[in-house]
Amino acid sequence: MNSLNKMLCEISFATRLNGEVLLLDYGSSVFDNILSMIDEKLILTNHKKIKTSKGDCQIASKNGAPKSLFFDYIRKVGSTKYFSREVEAYFKEIQPARHEQLQNVELFSRVIKEIINLPIISGKLLINKDETYYIGVITSKGIIEIARSILKKDENGYYVRSYFLSKILDAIAIYSNDEEGVILSPAIAPYLAVIIPINIAQKGVNKKCKELLDKLEKKGLKVLYDETSETHTKKHEYYLKIGVPLIIEIGIKDVEGNSLNLFVRFNKEFIRIDTKLFVDDIELYLTKMQNDLYKKALTFTVNSIRNSSDFTNDKCVNVITKIQCCDKEKCLEKLKKMKDRVILVPFNQNSNSNCYFCNSSECDSYYLIKKYKSV
Ligand SMILES: [Zn+2]
Repeated sequence: MNSLNKMLCEISFATRLNGEVLLLDYGSSVFDNILSMIDEKLILTNHKKIKTSKGDCQIASKNGAPKSLFFDYIRKVGSTKYFSREVEAYFKEIQPARHEQLQNVELFSRVIKEIINLPIISGKLLINKDETYYIGVITSKGIIEIARSILKKDENGYYVRSYFLSKILDAIAIYSNDEEGVILSPAIAPYLAVIIPINIAQKGVNKKCKELLDKLEKKGLKVLYDETSETHTKKHEYYLKIGVPLIIEIGIKDVEGNSLNLFVRFNKEFIRIDTKLFVDDIELYLTKMQNDLYKKALTFTVNSIRNSSDFTNDKCVNVITKIQCCDKEKCLEKLKKMKDRVILVPFNQNSNSNCYFCNSSECDSYYLIKKYKSV
């Protein structure tokens, strides 16, 4: 088992069963948050033809375990069958079909950015008889395909199929962790904050914590209050590990000073602040963390793209390489022959060097993408 899977098991996000990684309660909450937000977006944009496949039933029978055990609270990570959202539409003319397809790509891109908080790579696939648009997220293990939109033709006319794939969870898991545990963005975290009392027996501590819980719940926020007998240090370590965005600690000093200790999961810093100010500004802390996570992922994405000057056909181990190619058949053929790579024509064209093969100055940019190998 690799370290990421081990960590996901440790935090009750997922478990291993018969060689499969399966989601547990906590992981399912994250998954459900993603699903409901995607549904909301699709409905808002008039995408009505949404199908849900019954992947969890298949998993249950495949592993021979009782269905009741799996059906509600265990789901497979990475099953394209399960987390597939299909959007289909027919058109008589090609132009409206292309328009629909581009709208789907735009929608999926926005959902990934706003909800899943990861920067994307998108464009048209080069080798495909159908017109296919591709959206992926770069990780240190390769690019993970998140969505695809395909334009086909049959007897009814032009046919657009768009898919959202389950790899989103893989992407989140790979991106959002450090040596202490997972870092969940506020948009998908099952709990936004946890309140931990420091020495609950001391006068006023429990009351102060409960007052704060009440105020935050009244704002409609999902917050936990941990009253268990474990030490506050142990509790802190646990919530750090499972990725609760804000960890709040309250001790006797805070009862007297009407303050609290705030720990933000992203930058791992403690600050003591006034309770009222915190309650008023909690959304700002959450938004800031959401933005900070995106900026970090964006920097990683930008830094991961190599260009053809440090590229050799068989030795390149980089996740993604930008290469220039002209429109001559001879050069395009050479480009298409590059093995184990997805070739993408990105939407943002900013070609500033010559053809990699013939040195011609009239050329387009392409991304050579290393395929993601599932862990
Ligand atoms: Zn050329």
